[in-house]
Amino acid sequence: MTVRLCSIECCFSHPLATCAVNRSFVADIKGWSKICKRLSVWDYVIDYHHSVMPFPNLRALQPNIRFFVDNGVTSIYEEAAYFTPGTELAELRTWIMAKTLWKPDYDTDKAIDEFLAGYYGPAAGPLRETIDLMHKQVADHTDWHMTIWSRPTSPWLGEKAIAESVKLFDRAEAAVKTDPVRLKRVRIARMPVQYVRIVTAKPGQADAKTIRGLIDAFEASARAAGLTMVREHRAYGNLSKWLATVRAKWKAP
Ligand SMILES: [Zn+2]
Repeated sequence: MTVRLCSIECCFSHPLATCAVNRSFVADIKGWSKICKRLSVWDYVIDYHHSVMPFPNLRALQPNIRFFVDNGVTSIYEEAAYFTPGTELAELRTWIMAKTLWKPDYDTDKAIDEFLAGYYGPAAGPLRETIDLMHKQVADHTDWHMTIWSRPTSPWLGEKAIAESVKLFDRAEAAVKTDPVRLKRVRIARMPVQYVRIVTAKPGQADAKTIRGLIDAFEASARAAGLTMVREHRAYGNLSKWLATVRAKWKAP
């Protein structure tokens, strides 16, 4: 028999062991580890309601895996976007998890740098800056908790951070403009920022033509990525339905 706990209620912007929101889950793991030799964890590593949205949990992955190992967990399932390709930094997140599950002390910065250099080439620098930007905010704000159902109106996705990220993605695209393979990858990595701009824009305030352009760019990258769902729910998540809904909101008069 194996006892399996799941981390569904936890905060993932901060490591399990150090965030106040996670106290009861941490107590559960520690308690079970004392009386059970076969302890397993079903862990969550993406946002399930907005799966194409910046989800700055990359720096929590390693301390969480270390925490599980230190507390006698012998089996870890990291549930990510099993329902579609093309979600936020899916390849990078998988790389970090694979490296860290193999070696629980694997340095996350090293994993990020080696993946960005290999996968995005000359665009690695600005991509690293946008990843750092999102993660610094949740690191600096110990009260900005992020669950697997966080929204695009979350404080770490404020206008200033998104505007800064847009500039960094412009630089990233420019760096690989003559390399169609890497340009496609950078454009897919850019979708989360486009997604936030599309869903948080308010009619009457945002420029409708700009938002329509963002929706078209998002769709082109989403189709290129093979993305079929923007969230886990089979009906609500359907990409084509979601596109029709946002286009109806921003249609030309
Ligand atoms: Zn937290």
